[in-house]
Amino acid sequence: MKCAVCSREARGFGYFNSALRRSDPRRYSDRWVFCSMRCMNAFSKVMERLTSVQEDAVIDPSDLELAAMRAALAPLGDYVSTIGMDRPLADYRKEEVLRLVEVVVDAYQAHMLDEHERMAAKERAFFEQRLAAQPKPQPASGSNTRIPF
Ligand SMILES: [Zn+2]
Repeated sequence: MKCAVCSREARGFGYFNSALRRSDPRRYSDRWVFCSMRCMNAFSKVMERLTSVQEDAVIDPSDLELAAMRAALAPLGDYVSTIGMDRPLADYRKEEVLRLVEVVVDAYQAHMLDEHERMAAKERAFFEQRLAAQPKPQPASGSNTRIPF
């Protein structure tokens, strides 16, 4: 099994959406396994926020994966240019091919994790802002007898 966030080998960190009823099929997925506490926490923050904001909201994993693949293009290009742009892939040494794969996988994993953490942070900032913007509750003293509506 692969980590649902970064695609590294999962290590037994699971997740279920405690905001949903036990009978809800979206409460649990056997694909929600993770390599680390960091990935699990990033995922659960996003999921909990999405569920509480909008019941039907789901993360589209294919969009995230496509963006992560695109994020690998620049590092891939950088690496190929250090080898020589005009060298055919068939001429690469085995270590060079392995390094190429590593460059792509690292960029992909880093983007997936960054994106989950960014979504979680963005949602948190939004709700903190909303809370800060709410008027302070009026003190229940005799000096303030105005009816608030
Ligand atoms: Zn991970």
